[in-house]
Amino acid sequence: MEAKTLAKKDLPGFLDGLRGKGIEIWGPQKVQGAVELGLLGPGVEPYLNHSNVRLSPKALVFPQSERMFVFTTDRNREDAFILKEVEEKGESRLVFGIRPCDARAFLILDKVFLVQGAAQDPYYKKKREGMVLVGLGCNRPCSTCFCHWTGGGPFSREGLDILMTDLGDDLLLEAVSEKGKDLLAGWDLKNAESSFLEQAGKMAQEALGIMGSQVDPSPIRKKPLLESFGQAYWERVHEPCIKCGTCTYLCPTCSCFDIQDEVRGLCGLRGRNWDSCMFPLTTLHASGHNPRPTGKERFRQRFMHKLRYFQDDFGTVMCVGCGRCVQYCPVNIDIREIIREMSA
Ligand code: SF4
Ligand code: SF4
Repeated sequence: MEAKTLAKKDLPGFLDGLRGKGIEIWGPQKVQGAVELGLLGPGVEPYLNHSNVRLSPKALVFPQSERMFVFTTDRNREDAFILKEVEEKGESRLVFGIRPCDARAFLILDKVFLVQGAAQDPYYKKKREGMVLVGLGCNRPCSTCFCHWTGGGPFSREGLDILMTDLGDDLLLEAVSEKGKDLLAGWDLKNAESSFLEQAGKMAQEALGIMGSQVDPSPIRKKPLLESFGQAYWERVHEPCIKCGTCTYLCPTCSCFDIQDEVRGLCGLRGRNWDSCMFPLTTLHASGHNPRPTGKERFRQRFMHKLRYFQDDFGTVMCVGCGRCVQYCPVNIDIREIIREMSA
């Protein structure tokens, strides 16, 4: 595939050119001490000297709250009792500087929302189709990163359209998909010198070399299902968890949602909101019965789903190793330790 270089000083012009083509550009920005993904309007440059954005980019395709359709019960109106879908613009969005783990997370979300041969989620689909992912390889992985144990890596190309490597004064841009190739073809960029490619390869190796110790989730799939389900360690490992749901909201692959109708006067809407398997109401039946009545069952569900059931269904874990849940859990629960327990 094609490889080009872009001098960092020319980046603003490059981004302006993309905006000129009607592409909405999102990228990392410093916001009150944190780095978050935000809309990069004209004159706003991405902040590329970060480990990863605090909140995952999943909200771009699966917003925390989303209107599905609206309705009115006003009999004086012609559209009374007609459920009207909320029009999605489906605009072209480019995420500049997305980390490889977050790009792979979209491939996992695709398995959930765009199941082949089944009903596909139209809200997700429209936003996902218009998306272009320009990734930035990680020269300095964090101590909480473990993407290389979940099928990816700090310079993984999976899910990306273009992979960038920060070479100091220049960015190396390697097209990964046809979309990425077309995007690069539209610009007068220099072909990458072989020394740049070698330097990038070396950086990728060095990044892998500084990543943490073994956390292999693949043996989990080989264990008898009921044995994993009935393990005594669930009793112990769930104890410190306060079931706040932070890990599920920060996770780039968690995708549970709840559907609610909201009515004001004679108008209403049906919307969906992120939910969490850590919350007791998630599985509470109208009868009052709750099949996951205590914290232990809910905690177990989170990890069995991510690390076992998803592997059974799709051949991969529902985790990309971004480490957000490790960084932000208020009681220091570390998914890597749960993986070790489940794999032993
Ligand atoms: S962030 Fe930590 S305490 Fe909160 S639900 Fe997740 S594991 Fe439990
Ligand atoms: S988990 Fe891997 S891809 Fe994600 S930020 Fe860390 S090193 Fe980069």
